[in-house]
Amino acid sequence: MTGRLVFTDLDGTLLDHHSYSFAPALPALEQLAQLGVPVIPTTSKTRAEIESIRMALGNEHPFIVENGAAVFIPVGYFSSQPLGTVERDGYWIHERSLSRSHWLEHLAVLSHQYPGQFESFSSAGVDGIVAMTGLSSEAARLANHREYSEPVRWLGSDDNKAEFVARLRQKGANPLQGGRFLSVAGDCDKGRALVWLRQAFAEAWQIEQVADLAAGDSGNDVAMLEAAQTALVIRSPVNDFPELKRTGDVIYSDAFGPAGWAKGVEHWLASTHSAS
Ligand SMILES: [Mg+2]
Repeated sequence: MTGRLVFTDLDGTLLDHHSYSFAPALPALEQLAQLGVPVIPTTSKTRAEIESIRMALGNEHPFIVENGAAVFIPVGYFSSQPLGTVERDGYWIHERSLSRSHWLEHLAVLSHQYPGQFESFSSAGVDGIVAMTGLSSEAARLANHREYSEPVRWLGSDDNKAEFVARLRQKGANPLQGGRFLSVAGDCDKGRALVWLRQAFAEAWQIEQVADLAAGDSGNDVAMLEAAQTALVIRSPVNDFPELKRTGDVIYSDAFGPAGWAKGVEHWLASTHSAS
């Protein structure tokens, strides 16, 4: 049994930013599969979106959804159910945020205080999401199948937005500003979800330490890039490298997206070969 794990962001990291292709990463993915190194999708995407990508990848490993809001482990993946999980829909689920419906209740109250100043996926519906994002209606449907978080598009003034965010914080939310949307969820991130799942693997494998690699290309990946033993920072065609505090054991890719991912993973596999 290997003691190695790969946690990876999807968009712009394992998947090409523009085409969503993972073809350049296939040889590295095959190498990981042969070595028995699990690849853990760790993303802002929903369970429904990840399930469809996992199928395309032939990936049957656990995954982390909605920016660290929950960890999904297929039932039976480990010999016993990890503590801190509930069994539902064929998964052992470790939840780190309250539900989307909880945040929607707060947003409904706020919609009276800030009328017309924001819209969310829930209020916009699938057609509205298509208009806001340019996704196909099928992709918008999967993106709207959220369990823990709600994307909000702010339309009002900056001052009102700051007040709106402060009110959400008072309710225990940790709103995160992404490129287009303010994501309203509990106080969770990809890094703390990684640490929890890494520990679950260490216990299942009965080893002290897991050698893990985290790969990501943007700001919402920083927490996991800081938390893993080795960080693989992927070059992005649309943003600079995210800034890390750490300086040791960081690989910066030359190539964009999945091509950079493949090179970085191969380098990491070679450098950890003797350790496993
Ligand atoms: Mg990304």
